[in-house]
Amino acid sequence: MDGKIQNLRARIDDLNLNILDLLSQRARIAEAIGEVQSEMGLSHYDPVREQQMLEALIEANDGPFTDATVKSLFKQIFQASMQLEETQEKRRYLTSRRTHDQDTVVQVGHVPIGGKHSPVLIAGPCAIESAAQVEAVAAHVAAQGVTLFRGGAFKPRTDPYSFQGLGEEGLRLAREACDRHGLALVSEIMDAAHLALFEEYADMLQIGARNMQNFTLLKAAGRSRKPVLLKRGLSATIEEWVMAAEYLMREGNPNVVLCERGIRTFERYTRNTLDVSAVALAKLETHLPVLVDVTHSGGRRDLLVPLTKAGLAIGADGIMLEVHPNPAVALSDQKQQVDFETFDRYLEETGYHSKLSEKRREVYGF
Ligand code: PEP
Ligand code: MN
Repeated sequence: MDGKIQNLRARIDDLNLNILDLLSQRARIAEAIGEVQSEMGLSHYDPVREQQMLEALIEANDGPFTDATVKSLFKQIFQASMQLEETQEKRRYLTSRRTHDQDTVVQVGHVPIGGKHSPVLIAGPCAIESAAQVEAVAAHVAAQGVTLFRGGAFKPRTDPYSFQGLGEEGLRLAREACDRHGLALVSEIMDAAHLALFEEYADMLQIGARNMQNFTLLKAAGRSRKPVLLKRGLSATIEEWVMAAEYLMREGNPNVVLCERGIRTFERYTRNTLDVSAVALAKLETHLPVLVDVTHSGGRRDLLVPLTKAGLAIGADGIMLEVHPNPAVALSDQKQQVDFETFDRYLEETGYHSKLSEKRREVYGF
């Protein structure tokens, strides 16, 4: 009796191995089909084909399993193949940590962003308004140890009658001020037609929240040799944001930095809601550096210090902040830019000062 059971069990073991071998062969063919479908931009899930396969199997079924059991067993196999194809497809994304598990370090001018480098600070006015204004801010922030300067020459404004930026003249003024003070320039590009201009004047192209899904602009910036700072759209999901970065990388630009700048929610005490989990998730899902724009996130001066601490504590590779010599008369974002005194206090309170690295270690542990 015992011998008989053992015999039958041995046959089952054999069949299990055969089934496993057949399943693996099937999975490899499904992977090959998935690859062709991805290349053609087709969905991996084809319900008509699945139905045809199930019908053929039920037709061939002579028992002892019921049709329903056969159906459910094969549905499980189909699902496992689909999962395999999806995992494989994710591995294709250039932004994904699955393709590249080391942190990418993006060099802007002489400043490295990301990896184990100290968090950077990008400071400067919302908009470049005049030679005197840009010079005053550049001189002040550079004297405080800042190395990356921001300032918009082309401004995306809600109201078409409000200040739109100085255009090329603004870029030229900012470039000159940056050169005088050893700063690298980050400025927003709104139009693919301006690429040559930015290649000439800027060190990093900023793609603003409102243009995060301007695919023509993304493709153009992806072909540029300048690094790109990609802001998250006002109502963009993390996936949409990462896909926008994928557009840049797919065109050949490996130097992409993500920037969380707050998203639209129902909350009115803040201009936007800083999505801290998005910072952590972007770092988990991608290998790109991630910054936090604390000015546009909260839209409030009294939140700059806590939002900076939150951003750095959750792993941001740097912070962006707006500084103006006299915010009350600023031509844009008057309520949220800080004057020099407030900026200096911010550096002290956050420990975010190149000369205060000891304090930073004390506050953040790195
Ligand atoms: C900016 O940084 O100048 C700006 C307009 O920001 P955002 O695109 O995030 O609104
Ligand atoms: Mn602004």
